[in-house]
Amino acid sequence: MALQNALDHLGAIEYTWENEGWELDLQEDQEDPNATYFPTGELHITNLIDEGILQENYKLAWRFDIMAIEPTLHVAVYIDAHTGSFLKLEDQHLHAVGTATTLYNGDVDFHTAWFGGLVQKYVLKDKSGGHNIHTKEHKNTIFWGGISNIKDADNIWESSQAVHSSPHWAAHVMWDYFETQHNWKGPKNQGEKIRIFSKFSPIVSAPGILDPGNVSYEFIKNKHYLNIGELSSPGGALIPAGALDVVSHEWTHGICSQVAKMAGVNEPGALQESFCDIFGELAEYHHNGNPNWIASVQFQGARSLSFPPAYSSSCNGVNAPHPI
Ligand SMILES: [Zn+2]
Repeated sequence: MALQNALDHLGAIEYTWENEGWELDLQEDQEDPNATYFPTGELHITNLIDEGILQENYKLAWRFDIMAIEPTLHVAVYIDAHTGSFLKLEDQHLHAVGTATTLYNGDVDFHTAWFGGLVQKYVLKDKSGGHNIHTKEHKNTIFWGGISNIKDADNIWESSQAVHSSPHWAAHVMWDYFETQHNWKGPKNQGEKIRIFSKFSPIVSAPGILDPGNVSYEFIKNKHYLNIGELSSPGGALIPAGALDVVSHEWTHGICSQVAKMAGVNEPGALQESFCDIFGELAEYHHNGNPNWIASVQFQGARSLSFPPAYSSSCNGVNAPHPI
């Protein structure tokens, strides 16, 4: 009854223990097939918030550590053990600032989340200041909920994790750019969540369907995805694509396709590519005031905005394809 009272008080739509993906993630993390987010009550003697240190302000209470997915919640709920009434709530879902060594943009501060309770790890979730960005490693599935969070123990994300931390950080810069410069939050200005698949590789390529490539923006069931896989280096080897301008380019595809409703082919497609390149450089400008004005300089098919003939793939009158 005490737990039901706590859940009634929260009224969340989906709790972590109701989601198979979250449960599997926890069981893997704990190396225990019986691990569960289902809350177990602990008896506490707790004080009431904003009351003096007096005997009557202490209550015997059940404390439940509860995590919800929709809405995102991690709270401790205290229920009076004698009466079953709600006593107080403590937010456990802490926003954290970590550091990351990125692939192409040096060392940066970036935003993660710390999950207390059972899984004491930092994860690539950015809910800072209304941002809504979540990064997971693509594991050849389109079932987002079934994929584990990427975790770090100390919130110092080393270069070995740059393939994940770099697009996560880049999306934060792009969100911040559009919000501060254009008062625009998220791809559709609804503050909606961006999901990033790091280490993305396309799942299928059917006959007659163009290869979707390893880097793309995708809209699946009302959710925005940035798929950030690998691109060819000038020498031909595949290297991770998570540069700030590349991630920002894909983000801009979200706005072009979802808001401006531009098609991805022919003239609207070509215009999209140019807009995406421009905003990719503006994200660099927003980051450090020093853009190089070359879209995807680390990769084959770079485009120069300041001197287009520098690259054969730039728009220099030759009808060359743009690779991403
Ligand atoms: Zn593009």
